[in-house]
Order: sequence, then C-alpha cells, then structure tokens
Amino acid sequence: MDQSGPTRRQMLKVAMGGAAGLVLGAPLRGRAQAPAQLLTSAAGIQRLTDDLFVITLPGEANVVAQASASGVLLVDGGSAAGAGPLMKAVASLPGAGAVHTIFNTHWHPEQTGLNEQLGTTGKTIIAHENTRLWLTTDVTWSWNGRRFKRLPKIAQPNKTFYTAGALDSGVRYGYIPDAAHTDGDMYVYFPRQNVLAVGDAVSGQGWPVVDWATGGWIGGIVGGLQRLRAVANEETRIVPGRGPVLAYADLKQQYDMYAKIYERLTTLLNRGRSPGEAVAAQPTKEFDAQMGNGDEFVRRAFESLWGYLSPDA
Ligand SMILES: [Zn+2]
Repeated sequence: MDQSGPTRRQMLKVAMGGAAGLVLGAPLRGRAQAPAQLLTSAAGIQRLTDDLFVITLPGEANVVAQASASGVLLVDGGSAAGAGPLMKAVASLPGAGAVHTIFNTHWHPEQTGLNEQLGTTGKTIIAHENTRLWLTTDVTWSWNGRRFKRLPKIAQPNKTFYTAGALDSGVRYGYIPDAAHTDGDMYVYFPRQNVLAVGDAVSGQGWPVVDWATGGWIGGIVGGLQRLRAVANEETRIVPGRGPVLAYADLKQQYDMYAKIYERLTTLLNRGRSPGEAVAAQPTKEFDAQMGNGDEFVRRAFESLWGYLSPDA
C-alpha cells in the first residue's frame, strides 16, 4: 500500500512514546456539568449538555451532534444504510439546523456512511490523513474475508490533518498516533461541555475490534487510553464509538486491563506461541465475565503484535 503517512516503524516509536508517558497539552477544565438528561425519544438521543447530544440508532455506532446557531457539527455519521434515520434524528434536535461539518474518527463504514451525502452538498469532512488514504483504496480483512470498497472522491474527507487542530467554535481535535483501532484514529474534544468523543479507539461495549489490517494493535489500545486520559480530566465524559458514555475512571480501569493483557500477549509472542496457543492461554480470563468471550479479540490482538513487534515485520 502506498501511504504517505507514518510508517509502521515510526508508528511503533510514537506508540511506545505514548505508552511511556508522552502527553498532549494540559486539558482545559470545563465548567461543572449537570448529570446527563435522557430525552425520551425513539431515536435514542441522549442530551449531554444544552447543545451536545449522543444519537444511538439501533445497530448503529454512536454519533455526537452539536447544535448551534451556525448549524450542526457531527462526530461520525453512522452507516450509509442508517443515513435517513440519522438525519431525521439530527433534524429533531433542539436548535438544529443543517449539518455543516462532520468528523470521521476513522475510516470504517460504520462511521463514514454519511460522507457521500454531505460531501455532495459541499460540507466539511474532517479526518486524519491516514483515514482519507484508507478511504481512497479497497480494504480486505484477511481474517474473515470482509471487503470494503473505497469511497467516491466526493465522499472522502476534504479537510485532513496530521497532529491536531481546532475549530473557531473552540472544539479541539487530535490524532491518536498509538493506533488503537486503526492508524487514523482521532478524538474530538468539546472543552466548554467537557465531552471527549473518541470513536472506536475506546470500546464502551465488549471487546474491541483490533483492525490490524489498517494499523490497529493491542499496544495502541494501551497507549491510546493513556493519551486520552491526558486529554481528559476527572469530570470529562467520554463518548466511545459503541456503548454508553464513559467516565474518566473507566479509562483508567480499561488501561489497567489492556496493559495486563498486552503484557501477557507479548510474553506469549516472545515464547514463540501461535495465535491458537495464545487463545488457549486465556489471557483475558478474569475479564470475560464482564466483557464477554475474549477469544476473537485475543486472536486479533495477538496477530496485531506481529506487525509491530516481530523483527521481520
Ligand atoms: Zn471501527
């Protein structure tokens, strides 16, 4: 693959730097927040603050929406099949107008399904440059044969970045170079509301997908959690790609868990074990009651180590 983004080797260095305590700038402290209010809505809309919402449609990933006088800002856009219901839900938000900007937290179709509609009407689609590159090419997951078609040019991100950026509204966004889920992961931080949207770099519901075909790896999950803890503060509410809104303490808990699993898997790798043997070793055993069967996750996570830690990778 011809990618002008960082190489895996560079990514590894950055990831290790992250795990070793590299942090981003000091977080802005938001004002104290009232507890989230649940709007009773068939569309599954959770109101986080006066202007910020999480939209969770059946079978779809979380979408964060900020409604303002200038229109609506979205973090992720659900799948293409869910575009209609999502736009209906967006239109129902208090103070909603037309969508003006969307962030793609990564390239997966569960996040980029609204791109074509928004790109065609000239809206701003912001993503990390690696995300744009993955969307210009077909991708196949070797472990299950799932194929992804590239997006047409009009649906590709039209504003990309490498490290970080900010909008005039004060919203800040940044790259998660640890590569927790893909090598294009990003976060979007709303300082006034003290809400951090993190896409699938953090899983709020069961074991995550480690998409090593596009750069994700278990060490990146650990490094990404550490990095995001530095972006957030103790009052921050964290919106993952799937599952309920998380608290700061959840990031720490997840960090501890994945760091332990990462250590076990690297030990197994260094002993020359195969993915099947890694699964048989049950490195997620004490977490499975809470998280679900870990076999598939362990297999992907172990495979993901090859690309980053094996000498010939
Ligand atoms: Zn994903």
